[in-house]
Amino acid sequence: MNLPTASSLPRVVACPASHVLPHAPSEDSPAAAAGRERHARIADVLAGRAARESIPWDVREILGITDGDAVAVERAYRLRLDDGSVTVLGDELGRAYPKREPGAIDGTADVVVRHATGRTALVDWKGRSGAQPVRENWQLRTLAAMARANVVAIVALDGEEFQIDAAAFTVADHEKTLDVLRLTARIIGAHRDRITLGPLGVEHVHPGDHCRYCPARPHCPAYGEEARSLATIADAQPATLDRLRAEIAAAPGDWYVRAGRMREITDAVWSMLDSHARTVEPITLPDGRTARRVDEERRSIDGCRALPVLHDAGLDAAITQETSFAAITRAWKAAHPTANRGEHAHALAAIEESLASVGAIKTGTRPAWRVK
Ligand code: SF4
Repeated sequence: MNLPTASSLPRVVACPASHVLPHAPSEDSPAAAAGRERHARIADVLAGRAARESIPWDVREILGITDGDAVAVERAYRLRLDDGSVTVLGDELGRAYPKREPGAIDGTADVVVRHATGRTALVDWKGRSGAQPVRENWQLRTLAAMARANVVAIVALDGEEFQIDAAAFTVADHEKTLDVLRLTARIIGAHRDRITLGPLGVEHVHPGDHCRYCPARPHCPAYGEEARSLATIADAQPATLDRLRAEIAAAPGDWYVRAGRMREITDAVWSMLDSHARTVEPITLPDGRTARRVDEERRSIDGCRALPVLHDAGLDAAITQETSFAAITRAWKAAHPTANRGEHAHALAAIEESLASVGAIKTGTRPAWRVK
């Protein structure tokens, strides 16, 4: 039985059926492309193919790498679940693993540092969207078991900011990881047997945050159910909407999760309508009108260039200037490329104080969801 690779495990451990249901062809996203580019630049620096300054962070400093340490980039492993043995498949394979073995899981660690002190640290670079705590992330736990290492996850935030999440793992932790992987493999096997009898039902899948990039989503029975109930709500009469308000008041947490899935479904429906109208034909509405996709021109004004024109025209009221903390940080770093992190923090704190002293910092609130 072919098992998922380590990178799919956060989803597959939570919902083993997602490995068995048919998968839609994967589409490249801008976030995935940005992540690959970030990995490649960091790999080049660590492998000595590019200068340290070619990335905004001093990777060696963050990882505490000294000259006596052995650094492996993109190290690929194979873990056999029956006996827990591990094989190193090679470095920088580009996820092109040798022919898969039944009952084995392949995975790639971004960086493995064998420190001269005898410690081993495995480093993983994450985008903000993949920032699940290390101890709860089955991809990182599996890679830790493969490399018998502790893990440092470095989460790239906006711009040049990052945060670090590190976790130490014991032999008992690695054994627990193996137990969870073996159980997951058994459930996958049971679903494979079950699917020969007919489609899997909602009772076989487990929706959650891990659904976000699930390739099985178009075939997922839970999403099918949600789409059906969404259609029911969309067709509801006002009396039914009143009932909906009472239902939401009774279980707002459930509805928060449900509304997120409904939004994904409506986004998917609009995207399908969009491609239908662009590639097949305009859409005829029930009342006979036609909906077609057009590329509308959007115009905006470069405030700096427009400033003298608007001033001469006596339209100073139309002149606005905008900046942000992120823009100030970027500008400061560009003006001081050799400054260290301490100098950077000190200078930005001073600028912030000056801005506050002239009343340039406005504070206010706006409604937002933040989920921890
Ligand atoms: S979309 Fe469905 S199959 Fe995929 S992880 Fe979520 S619940 Fe499981």
